[in-house]
Formats: sequence, structure tokens, C-alpha cells
Amino acid sequence: MFLRKTIAVVASAAALSVGLVGTAEAAPRTLTYNSSGAGEFQAAVDRGAQVWNNSVVNVRLVKVTGAANITVTVDNQWPRAYVTSLGRGRWVMGRQAVNEGHDTTRISSHEFGHLLGLPDRRTGLCTDLMSGASAGTSCKNPNPNTREKAEVEANFRTAVTVGPSTYVDAA
Ligand SMILES: [Zn+2]
Repeated sequence: MFLRKTIAVVASAAALSVGLVGTAEAAPRTLTYNSSGAGEFQAAVDRGAQVWNNSVVNVRLVKVTGAANITVTVDNQWPRAYVTSLGRGRWVMGRQAVNEGHDTTRISSHEFGHLLGLPDRRTGLCTDLMSGASAGTSCKNPNPNTREKAEVEANFRTAVTVGPSTYVDAA
């Protein structure tokens, strides 16, 4: 009788332990990006990806040269993102924003933010990454705030449904 009870306790403790490990140490979702079409902005694109890799744990952005989840290109218009679904789609580095003085790393992390499921919030605040160009050209902050980071963590923890959406980031 005593033995049987002990085994039951050990078994349930093991089940609990497996459950906790599965939740807390789930592998981050890896998203690949190909920025070979981003011209002179390769480094800025990489810095934007690095910002997110330093900010969240549930998703990882990895640069590739072949087929990718996210494609980054450049043209002479405003930056914009075309989100197919969470972590899938493309964004464009727009020279018009760069020429007007907007920070290239902030643009990059902002556009990656759209691919990670964040919408525009034109608050005018530099502390908000998703305020985009509304924060003005003096804003060089490329980092998501606490709320934006938590939102992305939750998006990938729950695999939330996102898109299709297009975000045009004209000032
Ligand atoms: Zn935007």
C-alpha cells in the first residue's frame, strides 16, 4: 500500500516536470529573411533583425540567401510591409524616408515589427517602435518598448493569427 502511493506521487511529479520544461524551454520559432534585394541597406536590415533577437526569446530572425519567410527589398518610395501571415511576407526599405532623415535601423526594426504581428500606432512617441515616422526624424530609437516586446512574445507563444495586412509608413 505504501509503495503504491509512493509510485503514484513520483509519476505525477514527473508529469508536472515535463509539462513545465515543455512550456518554459520551448524552442524559439525561427524565421528566415533574405535581404539580398535591399541594396545599400544590408547592414541596416541586419541591425533591425538583431534588435529583435536581443529583445525577445520566442522568435529568432536568421539571415539566409535562398528561400526565406521574409524578403526585404529597397525602392525610392516610403518603407512598407506586406504581411501574409505571422512571420511571413515582405517589407521594403524606402529611400524616401531615409532621404528625409529617418533612422535606417529604426525603420528596419519597425518593419520587422510588422512581420512579427505588430500594427502601426502613430503616437508620436520615440519610445514606441511602432509609432514609426510619427516620432519625427530626430528619433533614432530602434528598440521595441516593454509592451511591444510582450506582444511579440505572446504572438509567437500562442501562434496568433495575423494578416494579410499592408502597412505603408509614409510620414
Ligand atoms: Zn509601420
